[in-house]
Amino acid sequence: MTYIQGETGDWEMVIGLEVHAQVISNAKLFSGAATDFGAEPNSQVSFVDAAFPGMLPVINERCVEQAVRTGLGLKAQINLFSVFDRKNYFYADLPAGYQISQYTQPIVGKGEIVLDLPDGGSRTVGITRLHLEQDAGKSLHDQHPSKSYIDLNRAGVALMEIVSEPDLRTAEEAGAYLRKLRSILRYLGTCDGNMEEGSMRCDVNVSVRKPGAPFGTRCEIKNVNSIRFVQQAIEYEARRQIEILEEGGSIAQETRLWDTSKFVTRSMRSKEEAHDYRYFPDPDLLPLELDEGWVEDIRLTLPELPDDKKARFIADYKLSAYDAGVLVAEKAKAEYFEAVAKGRDPKLAANWVTGDLFGALNKAGLEIEQSPVTAGNLGGLIDLIADNTISGRIAKEVFEAMFETGEKPGDIVEKKGLRQVTDTGAIETAIDGVLAANPDKVAEYRSGKEKLFGFFVGQVMKQTQGKANPALVNEILGRKLKG
Ligand code: ADP
Ligand code: MG
Repeated sequence: MTYIQGETGDWEMVIGLEVHAQVISNAKLFSGAATDFGAEPNSQVSFVDAAFPGMLPVINERCVEQAVRTGLGLKAQINLFSVFDRKNYFYADLPAGYQISQYTQPIVGKGEIVLDLPDGGSRTVGITRLHLEQDAGKSLHDQHPSKSYIDLNRAGVALMEIVSEPDLRTAEEAGAYLRKLRSILRYLGTCDGNMEEGSMRCDVNVSVRKPGAPFGTRCEIKNVNSIRFVQQAIEYEARRQIEILEEGGSIAQETRLWDTSKFVTRSMRSKEEAHDYRYFPDPDLLPLELDEGWVEDIRLTLPELPDDKKARFIADYKLSAYDAGVLVAEKAKAEYFEAVAKGRDPKLAANWVTGDLFGALNKAGLEIEQSPVTAGNLGGLIDLIADNTISGRIAKEVFEAMFETGEKPGDIVEKKGLRQVTDTGAIETAIDGVLAANPDKVAEYRSGKEKLFGFFVGQVMKQTQGKANPALVNEILGRKLKG
């Protein structure tokens, strides 16, 4: 097993992540209220969500299906028998005084996620479990100088809590894990993965140890809402723990917060134990029993997931593991690439898509779906290079114009007069002119200074505004300089 070494000296970080992923579903886990993001506060609240006395929860089959789908996507054990428990605690935005969750018998058991490492290699991280639970409401502290408001729109929305084994060893690996998990959830269509909107939130467990020693005491950093913050919080927290241990102190197991303005973790409370929550099976709900055939039907509808797609891209298109990984990270990117590569040189297509296109999109802050250059047009550009209408260098210029205007490559080439000069007569004239203007350089070249060849090529290209066919220039120039 290879680990990416962090800046922790001879200490090793041990990291496990708990991700809360909001299920894509029109209605909540136990009520028919809507789940749209950004709706007017308290406009999506049923009596069940508001915990009116005597209201009964009814399980939403769609949410169960989404959890099973996710479990299958994580190559995990699907538990045909699972139980909903009440997790009791008081909070102003939790009207029932308990959260319906799953504890000892979750719907999904052990699974795995393959991390794509920066060097193109991979590493498998264990998933401990996935369970279904309700989200809480939201307290709004910034609406009134002395009062807090409660918005229950989120109360009762279905969450999947996805717990990893303590298998991660660096902040980079934690980032790779979250990116991969988000990618899989999006491929599956079970969670939109938008961390800014809070539909994917992460609790980060960190401890440190000397390699080979038993695990140290962990601290849990709650509700971190971006991958960058997760990585920063891990780096900070590991260093904090190492300092304490090196001074002979010990780590108190506690729940901490990541302060996004001061870049430190702060203590929130000492860690609660499971027994503090007085878990017990919810008497309003029967155990959840799934039909094996129903699970198998869901399995049949799974899309090709990133790992399989990556393997296929490497095998069929002969792409490097790195390029394939970049292309499959998002389904829309993979589809775009395949449309460009179809019937063309895949390596060339991959270079244009991952290099020029992704670079331009990134700079413009656009998603692939918003690309001004369609896959059809990028393919057309590659065709113009292949049939010698334009050189690779001119193609860069055409691409820029395509990105700006969204026009077809052929139209831009015609309009700007960029068609490659393949007329040997015209190229010879240009070469003759360059040689006549530089008699001293010609003499130097002929007396052995061969690296001047590049200078002549450059001059000819300048003469022809870059439009001369480079192969012809090389060939004719070579012949003339010899002579
Ligand atoms: P809790 O709800 O009490 O936090 P969970 O079992 O839901 O407990 O989650 C525990 C998380 O902490 C898991 O992601 C696990 O991998 C991680 N973890 C457990 N032990 C350690 C440790 N010593 N160091 C770092 N992470 C740990
Ligand atoms: Mg936890």
